[in-house]
Amino acid sequence: MNVLVINAGSSSLKYQLLNPDTGELLAKGLCERIGIDGKFTYKPQLPGKEKLDAADVAMPTHSEAIKAVLDALVDPVNGVVASMKEIDAVGHRVVHGGEKFAASVVINDDVMRAIEECNPLAPLHNPANIIGIKACQALMPGVPMVAVFDTAFHQTMPPVAYTYALPYEYYEKDKVRRYGFHGTSHKYVAQRAADMLGKPIENLKLISCHLGNGSSVTAINGGKSVDTSMGFTPLAGVPMGTRSGDLDAGILEYLMNKYGMNITEMLTVLNKKSGVQGVSGVSSDFRDLGSAAAQGNKRAELAIDMFNYGVKKYIGAYAAAMGGVDAIIFTAGVGENDANQRMAIASGLEFMGVKMDEDANKVRGEERVISAADSKVKVLLIPTNEELMIAMDTASLVK
Ligand code: ADP
Repeated sequence: MNVLVINAGSSSLKYQLLNPDTGELLAKGLCERIGIDGKFTYKPQLPGKEKLDAADVAMPTHSEAIKAVLDALVDPVNGVVASMKEIDAVGHRVVHGGEKFAASVVINDDVMRAIEECNPLAPLHNPANIIGIKACQALMPGVPMVAVFDTAFHQTMPPVAYTYALPYEYYEKDKVRRYGFHGTSHKYVAQRAADMLGKPIENLKLISCHLGNGSSVTAINGGKSVDTSMGFTPLAGVPMGTRSGDLDAGILEYLMNKYGMNITEMLTVLNKKSGVQGVSGVSSDFRDLGSAAAQGNKRAELAIDMFNYGVKKYIGAYAAAMGGVDAIIFTAGVGENDANQRMAIASGLEFMGVKMDEDANKVRGEERVISAADSKVKVLLIPTNEELMIAMDTASLVK
């Protein structure tokens, strides 16, 4: 079976066509500048097929974008399937499922309404996800569609982990609580970790570190998320590319008064101008920071150190929360590629049974054990694959 995975944003849309049973990727690409002019990228993965790179295709709405995707996939010359009949289902990434969705779900009218009710929790993302679903439904009548939520995996967190120490009515009335994000990624790497360790996931205590532009650390006990570093929004947790991560809310009042900022301006600072970008003044990209630090830039070095220290503290906290840990997982852009940062994060954790293997760690983007043979806690590098996870969830629900 083939599943089309759609990740729709407000002006862009990423897609992949893959076979969830074999993991084979048939094609991927993206539509950009939707509603402006329209650029279409198509990367077929079968031999002899030609790709398109940011080709001009008019995309006044998401409908034309999805039409371009479907046309490319079934194109007689460069397509990867013979007809639309070979696209069995569509899996849609949806950012926020609130407390309504603890798992992926087949989309029907009730589900659409429930997703719409979550819009206030993710005003930038959910409405775009919904537009993508509606455009697909119109062009692919009768094809089953599934919604896969970034928040769903974390719905197993207990109240002690998700409740903020605020007046309780803000939770009861307004649903202000920790939700957590990157759930599809944390779920995928946790399953892969259990496979790699050859143990049932029910018997494992895992800490997964999804370290990219946005980063989150999750405690996974028996296959269930029991705590995660992001919160009500993806602003919380470790310092990120441009996001502050956790901070003293009292700072907001102080800075807003001092600089006459309103709350929107303050949040722009916290979301777009903070994190390792803000501290270093160099870049939000860890590769740039690494080069700058190597040339003696102290603030770039401080930013990297703060990030690593932040992740290390969450690992310690979650080991304490679970009463131990069997494996620590590194994934996403930084976690998969940066051996130095993995080493910096894991070093100093020998007291709790973590011992890295320096040579094994000298690798990029490859599934492998990077701890020493006698390390009590295994350290795993696992490239994430959110699209495959979405396709697998979709297949299991529509089969
Ligand atoms: P997101 O999906 O959150 O946008 P990614 O998971 O793609 O982010 O991660 C992007 C980050 O990964 C960037 O900060 C980039 O610097 C980092 N990264 C990618 N490749 C490397 C590399 N080879 N070495 C160090 N960092 C890398």
